[in-house]
Amino acid sequence: MELSVSDLDSDLIESCFIEAEKALKCGEVPVGCVFVWDHQNQRKVIAKGHNRTNELKCALKHAEMDCISQVVNRFPDCHEEVFKQTVVLITLEPCIMCCRMLRMLQVKAVFFGAQNDRFGGAGSVYKVDTDERIKCKPLKCISGALNGQRSIELLKKFYEQTNENVSKVSK
Ligand SMILES: [Zn+2]
Repeated sequence: MELSVSDLDSDLIESCFIEAEKALKCGEVPVGCVFVWDHQNQRKVIAKGHNRTNELKCALKHAEMDCISQVVNRFPDCHEEVFKQTVVLITLEPCIMCCRMLRMLQVKAVFFGAQNDRFGGAGSVYKVDTDERIKCKPLKCISGALNGQRSIELLKKFYEQTNENVSKVSK
């Protein structure tokens, strides 16, 4: 049985938002991600991550990329196979870069919360998930599978904090 939206474990969703909240506390754009190995009725969290672009001063360090690195390090000899048996939960629609990467790795499915109108690669800006010009299996992306409103609230908090900091500096 494959993981579907209806039986997404609430604990898994919660841990995804906990990751996003960690990012917010560190002054990062609050996005959280969990990778769940889902194979033959067995499920296991194999990576959890949040956006760390400011902390590591690296634009590549999105939550999804952090999780991908963790899986590669954890399963050095079989990560290609592991990715194909993995379901990805993200609080926000993956950006174009991450969506392309997840498609290349052929993860089983991507469940996300809010749509990402500025950078979204699963339909909001580009359809990296299904574009036929990309010669690999389409990526199954399910929008609104996690609480999109909660995801947006976190983003709002982040931008409010950022604006407060900016106005403090400019005074
Ligand atoms: Zn990304």
